[in-house]
Amino acid sequence: MKISRHSFLRISGITLAAGAARRLAAAIGGKKWAMAVDTAKCARQPNCTKCIDACHQVHNVPAMPDRRHEVRWIAKEPFDRAFREEEDQYSPLRALPAMVLCNHCDNPPCVRVCPTQATFKREDGIVAMDWHRCIGCRYCMAACPYGSRSFNWLDPRPYIHNPNPDFPTRTKGVVEKCTFCSERLGTGRPPACVEACPEKALVFGNLAEPDSPIRKLLASRTHIRRRPELGTGPEIYYVI
Ligand code: SF4
Repeated sequence: MKISRHSFLRISGITLAAGAARRLAAAIGGKKWAMAVDTAKCARQPNCTKCIDACHQVHNVPAMPDRRHEVRWIAKEPFDRAFREEEDQYSPLRALPAMVLCNHCDNPPCVRVCPTQATFKREDGIVAMDWHRCIGCRYCMAACPYGSRSFNWLDPRPYIHNPNPDFPTRTKGVVEKCTFCSERLGTGRPPACVEACPEKALVFGNLAEPDSPIRKLLASRTHIRRRPELGTGPEIYYVI
């Protein structure tokens, strides 16, 4: 079929307009995923690692024996390590744990520096990765101010215990990080860490929905974010 230049431009225009309209609809009436961490609830069980175990099992995160090769998607950090700018040594916050994971930043520096677009921001706010496109340059790791990404220095597969056949494994030379469980959200399930937490300390939800539990929680409790002064717009909120 022959398409005239005029028809081509008209079809392209319609396609572009439809794309822009879809993006606009997603931004206005769609989803903006975020997580709130209730630090007081988390502190009730200081040795609990159920969220970490669930996340790492479901996503085939390897348990590397050497700390130098560690791969992690979510971790429990002492509050003053996660919030290094907290200078007040007498602050009660210092005694609290902080779950740290990718902040799925609104303005993610990791996305800007990726030369292959292996990491990209979805319309629902999730900072995702296409591991097949990752060339292992680690620019994203250098750009992330939170240390949220890990690099596979070795083949991770021998170090995956009890592999999940429904989730891909990665290879040596590839960067990885939390995906906000996008694969579970697609089937209506909450992130694995949220589901596993016995204290219900992790609240995941849609910030674009005024009546969502996360919006209500953030409206009613004081909360902070990691290094907001950098302008990255972190979407993990620590309720204190
Ligand atoms: Fe990127 Fe780091 Fe922000 Fe995650 S926390 S979106 S890896 S800059």
